[in-house]
Amino acid sequence: MAIIQCPECGKEVSSMAKNCPNCGFPIKVAATSNIVTIRMAMIKGTVVFGAKQKVDITVGSKIVWQGHSGEIAELTIDKPTEIQVKYYTNAAYFGGRCSGMVDPKKYKKYSVTPHQGALFKTNLTFQPVDVFDSD
Ligand SMILES: [Zn+2]
Repeated sequence: MAIIQCPECGKEVSSMAKNCPNCGFPIKVAATSNIVTIRMAMIKGTVVFGAKQKVDITVGSKIVWQGHSGEIAELTIDKPTEIQVKYYTNAAYFGGRCSGMVDPKKYKKYSVTPHQGALFKTNLTFQPVDVFDSD
């Protein structure tokens, strides 16, 4: 068992830990070459009746991840793959979409963020990042 630095917060953590005890970053995942993490920006101002926005990631027509705004998705990707990201609520209001290439050989981390100043922040951008921003 080795002690490594958490790639997210820099604290020391066991390389065998599933998540960093300090910030929750998926440690084992970070060491695995075909797994990428995608941070789904918390989108504020688009909450309808208290519902957190749901997020789907699809490859082609297949859903590969489902979660919520503000979460970090983990995907196993073995070759450059185009993904689509869709934000939505039960009421189907204010959904945002974006798409982009995921290549685990080039980048391990990606983020989905709203365009600056977009109305209701529904126009999303997908891009590789070195570190995840906080909301
Ligand atoms: Zn950490």
